[in-house]
Amino acid sequence: MCGVNTVTPMERCGQCITDPPPWDKLICVGEYQAPLSGFIQKLKYRRQVWHAKELAALLAKQIESPAPVLLSIPLHWRRHLWRGFNQSDYLAESLYQCLTERTQVPICFLPKAITRSKMTKNQMGLNRRQRLINLKKAFLLSPKYLTKLQDQPHVALLDDVVTTGSTVAEICVLLKEKGVQRIDIYCICRASRPIL
Ligand SMILES: [Zn+2]
Repeated sequence: MCGVNTVTPMERCGQCITDPPPWDKLICVGEYQAPLSGFIQKLKYRRQVWHAKELAALLAKQIESPAPVLLSIPLHWRRHLWRGFNQSDYLAESLYQCLTERTQVPICFLPKAITRSKMTKNQMGLNRRQRLINLKKAFLLSPKYLTKLQDQPHVALLDDVVTTGSTVAEICVLLKEKGVQRIDIYCICRASRPIL
């Protein structure tokens, strides 16, 4: 459920049973390790955006019944300006194309529905607790798209790498407050240990 690798394949790990995550299903291509981690780094830090298509195609293969609404995690605009692009937008756009080619059900892609409300410190090097504090009220749902999210039965949220899950969890809470019923997390990698 949380997507963490377990020794034997299982639906829910111990953590999910005692403290279930606020999402319903996490779908990923694999663990954060080579060769996947290399492609993600090239996409993120070397602007090799063409990797977004390949990664999105791999992820799309894992998704049996796509959610009718697709959202993606934004970068803060200042970091966005500095980096010049948002790798999540490329991933989300490519994933959206892969999924719509395959399914008959129209998918509503809302890349600007989630906005960052404040500059958050880089998550790297922070422990789980510090991450949670760092992310507190870091996101807002854009009022423009609220009507499209209100009481939605099924929404998917895309992020490139899910580590502790605190970023996606924060957004899940916002979506559930708006009556969203089921939230799937789509990510390229699930990193069981924090990436330092
Ligand atoms: Zn779990």
